[in-house]
Amino acid sequence: MSEYTITVVKNENPKPKPASDQLKFGKYFTDHMFIYDYSEAKGWHNPRIVPYQPIVLDPAAMIFHYGQTVFEGLKAYRTKEGHIQLFRPDKNMERLNLSNDRLCIPAIDEEFAINAVKHLVHVDSEWVPDAEGTSLYIRPFIIATEPYLGVNPSSMYQFIVILSPVGAYYESGINPVKIAVENEYVRAVKGGTGEAKTAGNYASSLKAQEIVSKEGYAQVLWLDGLEKKYIEEVGSMNVFFKIKGEIITPELNGSILNGVTRNSVIELLRHWDLPVTERRITMEELDEAYRNGELEEAFGSGTAAVISPIGELAWGDKKLIITEGQTGEVSKRLYDTLTGIQFGSVEDPFGWTV
Ligand code: PMP
Repeated sequence: MSEYTITVVKNENPKPKPASDQLKFGKYFTDHMFIYDYSEAKGWHNPRIVPYQPIVLDPAAMIFHYGQTVFEGLKAYRTKEGHIQLFRPDKNMERLNLSNDRLCIPAIDEEFAINAVKHLVHVDSEWVPDAEGTSLYIRPFIIATEPYLGVNPSSMYQFIVILSPVGAYYESGINPVKIAVENEYVRAVKGGTGEAKTAGNYASSLKAQEIVSKEGYAQVLWLDGLEKKYIEEVGSMNVFFKIKGEIITPELNGSILNGVTRNSVIELLRHWDLPVTERRITMEELDEAYRNGELEEAFGSGTAAVISPIGELAWGDKKLIITEGQTGEVSKRLYDTLTGIQFGSVEDPFGWTV
């Protein structure tokens, strides 16, 4: 049997599926999971699809102590005709390997990982929901499993993929959110792990998120870790601003996650001949544009929400009300087009869906 042959053990006790209109984010899991082991002697081996089940790890497994782990997030969409499609899975697997490199985790074969995801989604295809806006969230992740308390790269890993049917992000259509600029905590620093999708980045973001939620904000706007001057990301999304017709997003600088949606937004805007620039942008510049009446739109981009318009930005004592708290034209067009491509109702000129 080749190292690439995936064995399948069917779940003989499938669970009842939640109703399509009762879905939340990341609460329900399907009947199967994919597992792939790594050891120094064998490399990545024994790829298998098995019934969804708890994993047993030694309490000394390195993942628990030093957080050597990476993950990805993408979705499978059901089209009106009932077909199932993925959106740019090659980008996620490419990013997984960049994260692997940063965390000293051995690279995986990207092609094979995409095939494993397709195979798993096929086995659990009945779990891909069909209600408007719903999808199957795919969570590939890798954990360090060697039982050892030394601070160095593990010699054993598991690559696992789990699936979760999720509801429409916006229950009543696309809706602007209120965001607070974070002036105390930072998400990432130059030379740190901001560009990698690794658990520690998310653990360290919880404190700021907890504080602003109590004040009624949906997410924080992260500034750079050195001067707290340059805008980086919004919550777990990339961020875009439209100023005097130009659409600006912070350039990738090592501390910003290279979002698949961010990249797709940039390509779509270029396709539409709209001016889009990747460059550094400060909170001061944004505030000045706002005061001059030149800040026309702001939005976040990410797999979960696709496009999340920003209606209000609180920066210390200042409140920037953007697009009169409504959804801007470009945000709406991007949202409709991207979700249209993902669900197969809009033609995909880029070959993004597979
Ligand atoms: N930034 C961060 C920190 C994220 O966690 C995510 C979600 N993966 C994004 C941006 C958006 O990336 P994507 O468009 O690939 O979902």
